Amino acid sequence: MSILRLAVPSPLRRLFDYLPSEGCNIDELKPGVRVRAPFGNRDLIGILIEITETSEFDLNKLKPAKEILDTEPPLPQHLFKITRWAANYYQHPEGDAFQQSLPVLLRKGHPCEYQHEILWRKTASASLDQIKANASRQRELLNLLIEHPNGISEDAIRAEGGQTQNLKTLEAKGLAESFHREHPAHHVDMLHEAPLSLNKEQHECLKKINANINKFSVFLLEGVTGSGKTEVYLQTIEKTLTEGKQALVLVPEIGLTPQTISRFKKRFNVPIVALHSNLTDRQRLDAWLQAREGVAKIIIGTRSAIFTPMANPGVVIIDEEHDTSFKQQDGFRYSARDIAVYRAKEEQIPIILGSATPSLESMHNAINGRFYWLKLTQRAGNSTPPKFQLLDIRQQNLYEGLSEPLTGSIKKHLEAGNQVLVFLNRRGYSPTLTCHDCGWIADCERCDAHMTLHRSPPRLHCHHCDHQQSIPATCPSCNSHQLKPVGAGTERTEQALQQLFPDFPVIRVDRDSTQKKNAMHEIMHQVNTGKPCLLVGTQMLAKGHHFPKVTLVAILNADSGLFSSDFRGMERTAQLILQVAGRAGRSDQPGEVLMQTYHADHPTLLTLIENGYSAFAQEELHNRRIATLPPYTHYALLRAEAPHQGRAESFLGALRQQLEDDLLLPEHVHWIGPFPSNMEKRAGMHRAQLMIYGQNRKSLHHLLSNLCWYLEQNKEARKVRWSIDVDPADTF
Ligand code: ADP
Ligand code: ZN
Ligand code: ZN
Repeated sequence: MSILRLAVPSPLRRLFDYLPSEGCNIDELKPGVRVRAPFGNRDLIGILIEITETSEFDLNKLKPAKEILDTEPPLPQHLFKITRWAANYYQHPEGDAFQQSLPVLLRKGHPCEYQHEILWRKTASASLDQIKANASRQRELLNLLIEHPNGISEDAIRAEGGQTQNLKTLEAKGLAESFHREHPAHHVDMLHEAPLSLNKEQHECLKKINANINKFSVFLLEGVTGSGKTEVYLQTIEKTLTEGKQALVLVPEIGLTPQTISRFKKRFNVPIVALHSNLTDRQRLDAWLQAREGVAKIIIGTRSAIFTPMANPGVVIIDEEHDTSFKQQDGFRYSARDIAVYRAKEEQIPIILGSATPSLESMHNAINGRFYWLKLTQRAGNSTPPKFQLLDIRQQNLYEGLSEPLTGSIKKHLEAGNQVLVFLNRRGYSPTLTCHDCGWIADCERCDAHMTLHRSPPRLHCHHCDHQQSIPATCPSCNSHQLKPVGAGTERTEQALQQLFPDFPVIRVDRDSTQKKNAMHEIMHQVNTGKPCLLVGTQMLAKGHHFPKVTLVAILNADSGLFSSDFRGMERTAQLILQVAGRAGRSDQPGEVLMQTYHADHPTLLTLIENGYSAFAQEELHNRRIATLPPYTHYALLRAEAPHQGRAESFLGALRQQLEDDLLLPEHVHWIGPFPSNMEKRAGMHRAQLMIYGQNRKSLHHLLSNLCWYLEQNKEARKVRWSIDVDPADTF
């Protein structure tokens, strides 16, 4: 008797047994194929994990599967294994992990067949006057084909509003034809442009990488901003391509910009696919298949691209490896960076983790020799490191949060014909609206947080639960008209800068100002004209951008991070400060960074600025060691939330007691808590957490598996929403 054991997308952390579907040939079934199977009152698509002969369930009760969807598994064996490993490591249901690693169309049961991409073009003799004037749809379609002489896919036609069903009509009339997209053959030159000649440090890095290119090895490329890390990536990829292999490049969420993609396209004359969020499901599947078949040579994507299969894996590169967007914060809480290291080991290929401000985890691994530590300490080309200065604003007169020395400097840089970047990590007009007469503050009803005041468009907006409401005309508590915005966000600083520097354009860059399609593109266009201007914005400005004309970076409010209650607060703040500072003076002109602060003598801040990131990291690692915090111990967070106050916390308390009574707690694993989360109430839910940690990963994970099993059986657990976060990015 053969039984199919499937991972189906369900919240339960277990596999489900089925009888083979009618007519299915067991001998030809391979683990990893998709199987359609009944689940409750509907059908789901699961992944065949194994074929067994026994089941812990009554065989008479097992249902037959409905349909086997593949002959060959969509995921190559390595990725099948990697996905299973990740589900297990992050304590996530396997079926759902597979769901997330597959493109949407495959999840929905579409065939997983690689078809050479079919494009349409007009025939040589076709012209518009061959179509009747009243057949406007056909004319529009032909027009589209005329605009795309190199061919256009059906998907792209639909995206441009064309009607693909008319293609057949045009084809019958001899006006349109389809053809297979041709990919450049191997022997053509892979490069569009010559590589830069490397400086000494870059050369050393590349030499080390090339010496280890055909096996598993992890490199931490720690290179100050503007040191030419990207050039090292590009030349590593070049080497990989010469060997007929593929490269997978992961970038942070806000790093996958047209500029990033064009940098790769400018260098390489090979098929490159970018897995960005604007792709249709069909385009995404096509890109995925091109990677799996080895047609796409370079795959660039954000977090989830780590699950993209490659026919000939050659190298994985994680740019800005410290970036928190590599860790998924809900559902399947995986770290793409950590999976990438595991993947590189499975596929026996090198992996490069690059950053100017590496995560302390990676620094720790580099220091203890587990990663090769490559360093670029100098800026590449002609640029020099920016001069960093703290502006002590204690007892200073501030105009809308801006000190006089700062505005004086801004003036100087603008008048010299340069651009200035003003950073503050808060969007909106002001973070609080308060009543001058009675002290009332506009709070979110659903969160322990103030509402942010926005002026464009006018509203109160909670940045934690997205709740929005209109701005009251009078104080809801005392009817006074004296409602005052307190503190500054980007909108307010933008306004202040406009008043101070009326002769220069002020460009605001934050999530609000870049919502419209192409907004970022237009902003970049304006900045790239090189004319003097002021850029004001949030961390969207901090990452990856290359603004050659920016010579002054002003940092307004990075202080608060120095006193974060999260143990990673200091690390994140240091990274942010250096990343923002790194936008200054990236070209021929020297750069300057001015940071306003109330804590100009903060020792950590001084170490960071005077001695650099490595020195800061070593100090911070020392603190972590003393406090037994990661990376010196391993953490997991059990979070719970419930609509009633106290419910989540008492649930976790009872759970802890129960586990201690049942002696389920292995040696060397410790608990802290439960205690209310940092923001106890969010989106109407009251939240609490239990921190679980231990030196030994095995014991910790053993406990976590038991805990999940226990929680899934537990009736009380159904009254709360719980989740487990392994290696959490924050403890909020
Ligand atoms: P990073 O990624 O380390 O911040 P980039 O790769 O963006 O730095 O490089 C910064 C600038 O230096 C870019 O304009 C790049 O073209 C230039 N650059 C990099 N390497 C060299 C080199 N060897 N010679 C000259 N210019 C270089
Ligand atoms: Zn009032
Ligand atoms: Zn809220």
